Amino acid sequence: MVRENEIRENEVAVTPPEPVDAGLTFIGRIRTPWNSRLLCPRQGRHDGPQCRIEIFAPWVPALAGVEAFERLEVLYWLDRSRRDLVLQSPASSGKVHGTFSLRSPVRPNPIGTSIVVLDGIEGNVLLVRGLDCLDGTPLLDLKPDRSLFKPIAPPQPGDFETGEPKG
Ligand code: SAM
Repeated sequence: MVRENEIRENEVAVTPPEPVDAGLTFIGRIRTPWNSRLLCPRQGRHDGPQCRIEIFAPWVPALAGVEAFERLEVLYWLDRSRRDLVLQSPASSGKVHGTFSLRSPVRPNPIGTSIVVLDGIEGNVLLVRGLDCLDGTPLLDLKPDRSLFKPIAPPQPGDFETGEPKG
C-alpha cells in the first residue's frame, strides 16, 4: 500500500529547516468522511460526498457574499504529511518525480487546494463537494473560484500590462 509516511525506492528526503508555519492562522476545520489516507480520494470530485467546512470565530462574518458563488477555492493545511521529500515515487515503481511537478500532499509547505461546489450554508458551516482531505484538516483560506470572480476594485495600470511576445 502507498501514501503513508514510508520512503519508497529511489525517493530522496532532505533534512528540512525546523518548520515554522509562516504565521498562518487556521480559520476553520474541514469535516470529511475520510480518516485514512489510504481511503481518501487523491483529488476531490464534484459528485463526491458532501463535506462540511466549519469556520471559527472571529472569521464567520467573512462569509458574507460567498453564497453568490457556485464554486469556491479552498486552501487547507495537509497537517499529517511529511515535508522532507524532494523526489517522490507516487506509483512505488522506483520512477521518481520532483515534488514541484506533483500535487502530492508531501511538500515543504503542505498546502492543498481544491475547487469545491457550494451546496449550502448553515450558519458558520459551508456544505461542499469536491474535497480530498482527511477529517479534521485545518482550513487556511476560502476564495471564489477565479473563473467566476470579476475584480470589484477599480482597474489599475498593471491590469493592462503585457510582456514581449515569446521567441
Ligand atoms: N487537491 C489537493 C491539491 O491538489 O493540492 C490535495 C491533493 S493530495 C494528492 C490529496 C491526498 O492528500 C489524499 O488522497 C490523502 O492521501 C492526503 N491527505 C489528505 N488530507 C491530508 C492531511 N490532513 N494530512 C496529510 N495528508 C492528507
